Amino acid sequence: MSCLFCGIVARDIPATVVAETERTLAFRDLNAVAPTHVLVVPKDHYATAVELAEADPAYAGELLAAAGAVAQQEGLTGGYRLVTNTGDDAGQSVHHVHVHVLGGRSLGWPPG
Ligand code: 5GP
Ligand code: ZN
Repeated sequence: MSCLFCGIVARDIPATVVAETERTLAFRDLNAVAPTHVLVVPKDHYATAVELAEADPAYAGELLAAAGAVAQQEGLTGGYRLVTNTGDDAGQSVHHVHVHVLGGRSLGWPPG
């Protein structure tokens, strides 16, 4: 199986890494839609957040905590949004779970 984010985790594909824990990696989104746009992924391959949570709840918690640590590191004191697109209708384009950490501007709601 060829997976873009597994390639980034393996450092086969370049990315701007901003944080790393034992089981997670955070790197800047190539096409940022906000002043801060970081993707946080588990180093192991799971397709969706729910798949990860069902297989290993503690790992899902680590992923969420890592996303919060990135928001703090990026200085998003005014708030931020965590997004995990799941499936085609949500526009998930990379089928390796990732949490988008979005912030640095006022984010509209509801999303389009
Ligand atoms: P999704 O649409 O699956 O929720 O999010 C996938 C994200 O990956 C998109 O925001 C897209 O900009 C980002 N992306 C796609 N290819 C690359 C890449 O090669 N490097 C990085 N850093 N981000 C990528
Ligand atoms: Zn993967």
